[in-house]
Amino acid sequence: MRFEDQRLKLVETLKTGGISDPLVLEAFRRVPREDYVLQEYREYAYRNQPLPILEAQTISQPLMIAIMLSHLKLEPTDIVLEIGTGSGYQTALLAGIVQEVCSVELIDTLSLRAQKTLKRAGFKNIWFRIGDGWQGWKQAYPPYKEFNKIVVSAAAEEIPEELCAQLAEGGIMAIPVGKNTSQSLFIIQRENGELKYREDTPCAFVPLVKDKK
Ligand code: SAH
Repeated sequence: MRFEDQRLKLVETLKTGGISDPLVLEAFRRVPREDYVLQEYREYAYRNQPLPILEAQTISQPLMIAIMLSHLKLEPTDIVLEIGTGSGYQTALLAGIVQEVCSVELIDTLSLRAQKTLKRAGFKNIWFRIGDGWQGWKQAYPPYKEFNKIVVSAAAEEIPEELCAQLAEGGIMAIPVGKNTSQSLFIIQRENGELKYREDTPCAFVPLVKDKK
């Protein structure tokens, strides 16, 4: 089957999995996942499963990405912080929906590779930082201090305080929390200055590494 047809089939799988946000489904319809996986995994690009990328990391499972992005209730005017650029696939999905994406990745080889792929795809609304995601966006430019939406693609042992501090009023964060074998997706919202935490579905992500620098 052609990649294009496989992509449409994946969108049907996401719908069956409970995804209904039209912006999220449209993003999955547009972004070629085969461009973000390693050459040797291209033929498996549309399986609804995580796949290995470089540096012993993984490109997340499509349904899990779709669940996280649906929780964010994305809007075209949103400024989004993404922690864990990885392959850049989720970054591309986000950048097609919202105004700007700031994406942080700890491992430089992964960030640089994703930057290349995303530039080749023509995106002009993505900013990159190579560094520790526990600190959120600590970059002079663009000088954002807070974000409408935050999505973390690796599991944190505890909820990073600095990320909560960078969540704007009315903002939503989706973050996997827990250790290797026992993780849940948490949805955090800031309403009237206060943070509300909700535990959602069980999940399995690579760990959000504590940078020792
Ligand atoms: N959404 C990405 C997920 C990649 S896996 C994709 O689908 O490709 C998670 C990523 O988080 C990995 O690339 C890993 O290197 C990165 N990561 C782990 N700990 C981190 C940290 N403390 N700061 C920033 N990125 C981190």
